[in-house]
Amino acid sequence: IIAKGQPDHSVVTTCAYCGVGCAFKAEMKGNEVVRMIPWKDGKANEGHSCIKGRFAWDYANHKDRILKPMIRQSINDPWQEVSWDEAINYAASEFKRIQKKYGRNAIGGIVSSRCTNEEDYLVQKLVRAAFGNNNVDTCARVCHSPTGYGLKQTLGESAGTQTFKSVEQADVIMVIGANPTDGHPVFASRMKRRLREGARLIVIDPRTIDLVNSAHIRADYHLKLKPGTNVALISAMAHVLVTENLIDEAFVEARCDSASFRDWKAFAALPENAPEALEEATGVPAQQLREATRLYATAGNSAIYYGLGVTEHAQGSTMVMGIANLAMATGNIGREGVGVNPLRGQNNVQGSCDMGSFPHELPGYRHVSDVTTRSQFEAAWGTRLQAEPGLRIPNMFDAALEGSFMGLYCQGEDIVQSDPDTQHVARALEAMECIVVQDLFLNETAKYAHVFLPGSSFLERDGTFTNAERRISRVRKVMPPKAGKADWETTMALSNALGYPMNYRHPSEIMDEIAALTPTFTGVSYARLEELGSIQWPCNDSAPEGTPVMHVDQFVRGKGRFFITRYVPTDEKVTRRFPLILTTGRILSQYNVGAQTRRTDNVLWHSEDRLEIHPHDAEERGIVDGGWVGIESRAGQTVLRARISERVQPGVVYTTFHFPESGANVITTDNSDWATNCPEYKVTATQVTAVSQP
Ligand code: SF4
Repeated sequence: IIAKGQPDHSVVTTCAYCGVGCAFKAEMKGNEVVRMIPWKDGKANEGHSCIKGRFAWDYANHKDRILKPMIRQSINDPWQEVSWDEAINYAASEFKRIQKKYGRNAIGGIVSSRCTNEEDYLVQKLVRAAFGNNNVDTCARVCHSPTGYGLKQTLGESAGTQTFKSVEQADVIMVIGANPTDGHPVFASRMKRRLREGARLIVIDPRTIDLVNSAHIRADYHLKLKPGTNVALISAMAHVLVTENLIDEAFVEARCDSASFRDWKAFAALPENAPEALEEATGVPAQQLREATRLYATAGNSAIYYGLGVTEHAQGSTMVMGIANLAMATGNIGREGVGVNPLRGQNNVQGSCDMGSFPHELPGYRHVSDVTTRSQFEAAWGTRLQAEPGLRIPNMFDAALEGSFMGLYCQGEDIVQSDPDTQHVARALEAMECIVVQDLFLNETAKYAHVFLPGSSFLERDGTFTNAERRISRVRKVMPPKAGKADWETTMALSNALGYPMNYRHPSEIMDEIAALTPTFTGVSYARLEELGSIQWPCNDSAPEGTPVMHVDQFVRGKGRFFITRYVPTDEKVTRRFPLILTTGRILSQYNVGAQTRRTDNVLWHSEDRLEIHPHDAEERGIVDGGWVGIESRAGQTVLRARISERVQPGVVYTTFHFPESGANVITTDNSDWATNCPEYKVTATQVTAVSQP
């Protein structure tokens, strides 16, 4: 604990790191946080926390914070501190100039899943109403956009189906492409408790994650597939269900669309989908896959939890639909202890998507082309809205290089460090004429910016976050914004400077507007949140206290729809030149690009990105543990230290991406999911060689 004296008051708020959304009591002395105590009444954490939420909050006071707005004419000029009015007016005049010269669609905005619901809502409103286009996207593009697409197509709602607590009723837990111990530690503890009580465990992951073999826990099956073959594996599981009569026929008949089920069943039964036929592709022994599928299908309650190892692939959306197929076919959906549960990475990735931060969807996942929805927003916002979807983040980069996208408002997101193929991103940003970055720190993206607007930390603003179980929780301001404005006030000021008036006095008024315009939020208000503590949406007249379990009597879309999951091998091929597949992930003590955790003054955070490599591959290349290695892909090259480990299989290497100097995304390519453009971070063909110290 970072002791700063005795507290004189406390405020309950929500952790700003991962999608578990733990509640904390911030114990305060005046305007200073003394310590963060996990709050016993927090429904997502029930008094538990991990090291990040408990100890890694002092970045809010870090010396690197930029507290004055800054502008510069060119990225080669030095920054010049200016007043808020000057910076905002400069940004507005540049955006107006660009639109006059290149057209209305030449600017856009990117929002972060680290921001509150209210801030995300305001940025998409700014883009749609003040910029006059739909060029808004969220960093969920690069993580869980396939979840939004796949679950909406199959089940009818772009969200997980359960509460975290539901895992306590599970008999079988299947974890696919997720590492809860490092990524979602408090939920992992709850899951491990259930496993220690006797629930069975299936892990599907190319790497031996902690859950496979940790204290008192052994996975019954670890399907250690080759990276990039998820869809082959899920189709093989479907084959086993269909050919071994493991379908819950009564559930499917009552709840699912019969035509799509018939087609899926015929597809799954094809001999080419047999586990034996796909054994070479996936690397998973057929018998092991058959046994794991039987276990999933025949337990009383089977629950699936998945992460970015599912979504960040060229067939990410197909895999999400394949997972939903499995749950529907076996009747494992619509009650406690089962379901399809995406483990969302960032604190508010669910909320950012809910708030209409995608270029094709208004808040509540309603398509911009829908006339009724659009006219509802047009009436409320007093302006006409575009009916055509805007640009996704990668399309913005492409358009910039083609000369048709010249201005960007980027709130709370470091696209240079977090998006794939860094060189491509950098070239696109260099081509733009005005980039406005709003952040706590001069991040990698700010190197290309013309206007810097200081951001506010989660301790400095009011709002709400929505966690991975659709739980909306209050974020409460514990200290005044250090730079003088909370993020929602900055967006509002920019909108006013552009000539589209916004006049909210408090984020609660923004939430009232969200509730009035979003059918799944009509029962949500700050007063109700005070009363209930937190609310899982949908919350409306039919569910006034919220909805812990979705799809109980029927799916949101009516009948659950099956989708055919034909496996298409990734374009990212291994060759003699690039023989090793790189896949990426996180560690417990760091968070994403490390902007916050790297600025935490504690030895726990003194780590570095390393390249895990199997002993056989290391020996072949003369690589020693802790030695330097060069990694080269078709996109670029970087240098890291090696960690020799049997956690990775031969032919696969693994690293994290928390430190800008290690440049993991310099080597990831711009391959992406066919439906959503989510980057294929999990599969990059590389060569690794021993090098001398850089
Ligand atoms: Fe914060 Fe996630 Fe840790 Fe909870 S588990 S304290 S939400 S980082």
